Amino acid sequence: MDKYEALRKFFGHSAFREGQEEIVDNILGGRDCLCVMPTGAGKSLCYQVPALMMSGTSIVISPLISLMQWQVGDLIENGISAAYINSSLESSEYFDICRRAAAGELKIIYVAPERLETESFLRLCECLEIPLVAVDEAHCVSHWGQDFRPSYLKISYFIRSLKNRPTVAAFTATATDTVKSDIERLLELKSPFSITTGFDRPNLFYEVRTPESKDAELLSVIKSVSGAIVYCSTRKNVESVGAMLSRNGIKTAVYHAGFSADKRKAAQEDFLHDRADVIVATNAFGMGIDKSNVPLVVHYNVPKDLESYYQEAGRAGRDGSPARCIMLYSKSDIALAKFMIEHSHEELSLKEQSELKKRDHIRLKKMISYCEAKDCLRGEILRYFGEKAPRRCGHCGNCLSDYDDITLEAQKILSCVYRLKQRNKSEGLPVICSVLTGSRDRAIIEKGYNTLSTYGIMKESERVLQIAEHLVNEGYIELCGKDRLCALTSQADELIKSKGTVMMRLGKSQKKTADSKKHFPTENKELFEMLRELRRKTAESLGVPPYVVFSDASLWDMCSILPKNHDEFLQVSGVGTRKAERYGKKFLAVINEYSKKIGSHF
Ligand code: ADP
Ligand code: ZN
Repeated sequence: MDKYEALRKFFGHSAFREGQEEIVDNILGGRDCLCVMPTGAGKSLCYQVPALMMSGTSIVISPLISLMQWQVGDLIENGISAAYINSSLESSEYFDICRRAAAGELKIIYVAPERLETESFLRLCECLEIPLVAVDEAHCVSHWGQDFRPSYLKISYFIRSLKNRPTVAAFTATATDTVKSDIERLLELKSPFSITTGFDRPNLFYEVRTPESKDAELLSVIKSVSGAIVYCSTRKNVESVGAMLSRNGIKTAVYHAGFSADKRKAAQEDFLHDRADVIVATNAFGMGIDKSNVPLVVHYNVPKDLESYYQEAGRAGRDGSPARCIMLYSKSDIALAKFMIEHSHEELSLKEQSELKKRDHIRLKKMISYCEAKDCLRGEILRYFGEKAPRRCGHCGNCLSDYDDITLEAQKILSCVYRLKQRNKSEGLPVICSVLTGSRDRAIIEKGYNTLSTYGIMKESERVLQIAEHLVNEGYIELCGKDRLCALTSQADELIKSKGTVMMRLGKSQKKTADSKKHFPTENKELFEMLRELRRKTAESLGVPPYVVFSDASLWDMCSILPKNHDEFLQVSGVGTRKAERYGKKFLAVINEYSKKIGSHF
């Protein structure tokens, strides 16, 4: 069996994604790997495919118990013999797994890092052939990572204890150099093949909205999708937004750190199993949740930095199907975010606090510039993470919003700077704007600026300032010296002589919202809902989360292909032989009935 066959047959995917094939090849070639891939990029496949192809039992070290269970459930669903070993097992279950492993029946064993030190696990490994050890969430080995776990430091001892050194492949979504070099050193990787795939998530549609009523806006976007995570920055907001959605008939779970562990667990499970369509949560929600079919993430408040935003918004569309990330922005959020920074890190010394706060304020500023950006939002994110990005991605709220022709207004602003220069004066942007909008400010009158021909020729001061700033960004105006006085560039001279046009993206129009809809699958939405319900019931009877049965991407694909028989069903993305055998009949029955109904209309 080659890698393409493994990919198709077991996972039902037709092609590898960026980075996956190279990693698979390197692992198969026996080279250690250090892979940095953002959440949702498809890290698991990179070690699962080689594990299937190599003889022996591969070990996957993973820190999150619940995640491990679902992943193994997923593999078994796909017809791969896998098991997990962690503290949740009864001893009889544990011995059964040992027996099957020793008999060479298991291709993959997931294990929690704490287990690596136990005598019985080490003894089990002595009698196994282990071609590969994959380390998931490898940043946990580093003090600099977000979630350092001391037990990760034991991984290198464990690997050394094996009689034949396996290939070691480490995976993480954290890309800083310190963390990367810590992983390489502490896991003792041998001149690893190192790869960092892009941070771009092409299936995500980023959008910032500044509605008058956040609640009304939230309701209307939520009604158009089949599920969502809504992040709020305070517990109070979580509760009020949750209540608002429930009042409006939406099945909603709420989650924040103030609830008991039981209540949190129940909320998480309800969402995972599609019993609740929406979960409203603080940022405490997320770590350890691996739900791949989330079509929408809304931020009701501005998060503290773009790292958090990227990570939280990134929980949408992990299965690769189109998904939306909407920020509901209002200026009042800024004060809230600042307040939270001022009241953070209280456990540290004053000196440390003040340093961290300084850093946090800088990060918040960047977050706010994202919210206020007029240009491509994807570009804003990618450049923040140090990646190159095109000026326009064509698939975000800003790229789809309308351009305004601001040539005339630009000419007025530039002329004002020009007239001042004729009087041997130069001023900063605020004064220029005051002159243009005819301010009665004493300073303006005293300087005689009210006699300029450009005095009072424009109206809305906020818009004038926006355009003036845009002219600076686009290189028409230069800000000189520490007083940042305006000077015209040669580009500006051209424009004053009425050559060329200036475009700028302003405000958000209604049209854009309508446009963005066509970027989402709506084909046979009714069928999608029917399949979704069938999936929920099927999953419930098996006691697994729905996405383990089929991803949203697969359901949408069924809606567009409308497969008629088993062979056509196999063409659906994400459907391997095993899933086709297990579920094909039931799903085909619903699809066929739907097709007949549709057909009868023609
Ligand atoms: P990560 O661990 O990097 O966050 P996962 O391994 O959980 O991501 O994969 C995320 C989703 O992407 C899963 O639903 C998986 O089925 C899907 N996926 C992975 N590789 C491919 C591929 N080559 N083609 C299509 N879907 C894929
Ligand atoms: Zn864009």
